[in-house]
Amino acid sequence: MRDKVVFLFTLVTILFAGCESDNAPVLEVSQDNFKDVSSDGGTLSFDITSSGPWTAKSNNSWCTLDIPSGTTNQTIKVTVRANKSSETRTATINISGDGLLKKVSITQKGIFFNEEIAKNYHYVLPVIFHIFEDATSGSSSLIRSRVKAIIDACNDYYSNGWNNGSADMNLEFTLATTDPQGKALTEAGIERIQVSNATMDCDDFMIDKNREYVKYLWDPDQYINIMVYPFKTDPKERTVTLGISHLPYTSKSNPYPGLIVPNSDIVPRFENLAYPYCVSINKSFINAPASIVGTYYNASDPIATLSHELGHYLGLHHSFNEGSQGELDFCEDTDFCEDTPPYNRAEYSTFLSNYIPLDGQRIAPADYPKLMTRKNCKTGAESTPDNTMDYEYSWMNHFTADQYTRIRYVLSHSPLIPGPKLASGTRTRSVSGMVDLPMRTMK
Ligand SMILES: [Zn+2]
Repeated sequence: MRDKVVFLFTLVTILFAGCESDNAPVLEVSQDNFKDVSSDGGTLSFDITSSGPWTAKSNNSWCTLDIPSGTTNQTIKVTVRANKSSETRTATINISGDGLLKKVSITQKGIFFNEEIAKNYHYVLPVIFHIFEDATSGSSSLIRSRVKAIIDACNDYYSNGWNNGSADMNLEFTLATTDPQGKALTEAGIERIQVSNATMDCDDFMIDKNREYVKYLWDPDQYINIMVYPFKTDPKERTVTLGISHLPYTSKSNPYPGLIVPNSDIVPRFENLAYPYCVSINKSFINAPASIVGTYYNASDPIATLSHELGHYLGLHHSFNEGSQGELDFCEDTDFCEDTPPYNRAEYSTFLSNYIPLDGQRIAPADYPKLMTRKNCKTGAESTPDNTMDYEYSWMNHFTADQYTRIRYVLSHSPLIPGPKLASGTRTRSVSGMVDLPMRTMK
């Protein structure tokens, strides 16, 4: 009996020693599943036990790792961003090394958000101004206090701050305080980008699909990106462009008039973008004075410009008659809002060009009654233009109830816009990598 036991013990010892001498690779994780992570997000951690080099990668941008690779045992910290949709979501972390693969699954709950809550939800939209500066000319003339003053004034426009009967959009733009890595910004809401030549053609910038400019974007689900650079101007053109914006998306299964629909039923994500989905503002006018209603009119008022472009970014069209090819010379309400009086824009533009050279600085208060009149092309009624989505010559400080409804839809459904979304806006599938997405810009 005893001999046999010794023999067995010896055999086991030999087998174990054999394993060791082969150096069988080891790759283990201390936990392969995190369920019901809070919608608020947070930090998780797990240990990797490894006999050699390994790499770890998350398949979703809302779930990031502090260390992407290592050579031995390591504790990995996982940062999970807040989930602002009502859908539960899952990310997988793949850890590979020496021919072995381990997966860690992270499931995060969605927030409790429904149609009823969405109706009165106060959206807080972080804004980041990416200010392009010529590397040779040093620091920018655009100072921090100016950026804050502009965004504060935009908030007035969006919250009936003028107390002029404008619809309160129940939202606020706030200067971002942290960058995408969570690091505190030295200047709230500002990233300064030094380039060899900051002057760019705004159309070329906005429609570029060659990933030339998309690198400047911060995740549009977290920030509204405002690019600030001097727009290249064509001396032959009589007008200058002050700002330009992309229109937001809706999904194929949730169509909404006047929003952009991807070719297949996907929800676009940051990683799908080949072009810089954003607002661009002409830096040449950023320090121009604002209009004062009834007293002073400045067509290049940067506050009116930014409010207008943010209106496009949140799904509004021009309040005047316009088709995909430009101004219409007939009566058709084209902004999907019945309470913004339609007017024949082509007719008005002709009147303007005959009235005065297109130079807002020369306009005196005595000109206002003529320039500041619009005729409703359906009813013939005349009114003083004040809608933010009109321009030249409009006081641009007013939104309507129908415009509120459109913006609410975009805030609660559109991807690539910060803030909580209803499930119906996020239920369709996501895809990885770059996608050739349709786009539309408006100025
Ligand atoms: Zn516009």
